[in-house]
Amino acid sequence: MGFKEEILKRRTFGIISHPDAGKTTLTEKLLLFGGAIHVAGAVKSNKIKKTATSDFMEIERQRGISVATSVMGFEYKNVKINILDTPGHQDFAEDTFRVLTACDSVIIVIDSAKGVESQTRKLMQVCRMRKTPVIVFINKLDRPGHDPFDLLDEIEKELQIQVTPLSWPIGNGDQFKGIYNIHRENLCLYSASVQTIQDGIEIDDINSGELDEHIGERSADKLREDLELVREVYPALDRAAYLDGQVAPVFFGSALNNFGIREMLDCFIEIAPSPLPRETDERLVQPDEEKFTGFVFKIHANMDPNHRDRIAFVKVCSGIFRRNTNYLHVGLGKNLKFSTPTAFMASKKSIIDEAYPGDIVGLHDTGNFKIGDTLTEGEKLHFKGIPSFSPELFKYIENADPMKSKQLAKGIDQLMDEGVAQLFTNQFNNRKIIGTVGALQFEVIEYRLLHEYGAACRWENINLYKACWIEALDPKELEDFRLHKAQYMAKDKWGRDVFLAESQYMLQMAQANYKKLVFHFTSEF
Ligand code: GDP
Repeated sequence: MGFKEEILKRRTFGIISHPDAGKTTLTEKLLLFGGAIHVAGAVKSNKIKKTATSDFMEIERQRGISVATSVMGFEYKNVKINILDTPGHQDFAEDTFRVLTACDSVIIVIDSAKGVESQTRKLMQVCRMRKTPVIVFINKLDRPGHDPFDLLDEIEKELQIQVTPLSWPIGNGDQFKGIYNIHRENLCLYSASVQTIQDGIEIDDINSGELDEHIGERSADKLREDLELVREVYPALDRAAYLDGQVAPVFFGSALNNFGIREMLDCFIEIAPSPLPRETDERLVQPDEEKFTGFVFKIHANMDPNHRDRIAFVKVCSGIFRRNTNYLHVGLGKNLKFSTPTAFMASKKSIIDEAYPGDIVGLHDTGNFKIGDTLTEGEKLHFKGIPSFSPELFKYIENADPMKSKQLAKGIDQLMDEGVAQLFTNQFNNRKIIGTVGALQFEVIEYRLLHEYGAACRWENINLYKACWIEALDPKELEDFRLHKAQYMAKDKWGRDVFLAESQYMLQMAQANYKKLVFHFTSEF
């Protein structure tokens, strides 16, 4: 197979949802289709249970699972599918944002009884920012749920995206009879007792009595009415609009019962994008360029506390990645080569010789990589789209064991490289501040510093509302600002200026008084 065909046959995507909507179940059923696993229950949920906040064994267990399920690759109908796992827990939302930067498209799972939930809304915001193509799967139709039209209204309003339903449910809960596949114009009957996947029933004319025979007169009339309304209200599938992130095709089904999933998967491989061109600070990189480029979107520490080595996950953006070949680490300005690059097929890891655009390669790392780093064949490129978000919780981090200050510094440095949290150094008192999006991260950091680096830390509360990155349209004004706000000035890991606002009021005043400074809430501007 030629290079271009290899690219065209790849689909790299993420599944996102609010916890409990059915992401893990759907992932597992998709893997079953690919023959990547053979029994249900093989995919472990990486959910952190509510009770587990202080259970460190649980955190360790989760880390183990999340390495195994970071990337799940499989083949289906001659298409190479890579599912990138995203953590569901909101304290790890930032990890999910970064994984999304490596996805070419996304499937959103929504619980039909709950509708659009908070986490879905947040993640969708990131998809909109990046114009990621989105397909929606409305799940749990075997349970009582909202009316499908209401759900679609809610999605349009809450997720701010137009929808095109491509399948349609016939009832729900006890009355769930099946779905009509609008895309293929056939009927799939649901039966809770039959767990095998049946072929759709072709119905040439939904106005014929044939439909009544299958689902009864009342359901048949209701379906005809619904479908007529669907045709009037919603546009037909427009692939260009989907690829542009304007329209989301919607499917209905029940992941648990493996119902309605094949319809979605068949449509997915037909319409979802193969690897897309990628922006760098310097230029647009096309996937079919001859030379290899890629970027690190995730770093995972080794599970063995005696080894500090890590796995850096690289998304191949162009060219062919090859084993034992020298590549330029643009950030470090030095060449590196990798003798054991791994690919992830379902839960198996294996060493590979080459990887194509769209693929994810796991590289063994001894501390060279941080999130966002670029690898090339020599060109100095910097891929865009790996933002840090303004954290919401802050604490001073102090050394609790003076004998171990080196270990602490190294530990903090490496954990920040992994993107566990963000470090700011106050320029006034030189104290180190850790900023996170969730409370759980402080516990993770303290635990890992101790167990992986032998360092002890102590937290001290700090009253901060927001840390924002400052862009100076006028350098003089920045000088003036620095002078007046000396106590509130910090540097991030890359040495960029950060303003530590104690309150919303303080931030508003700064914005009002310094018109030539822009205060950013993501690190990328
Ligand atoms: P995640 O948190 O989004 O990964 O959700 P899970 O896949 O772990 O599912 C959460 C719960 O919902 C589990 O108990 C699943 O068995 C259940 N579930 C998932 N899909 C369905 C479905 O289609 N119907 C029903 N009744 N339950 C489902």
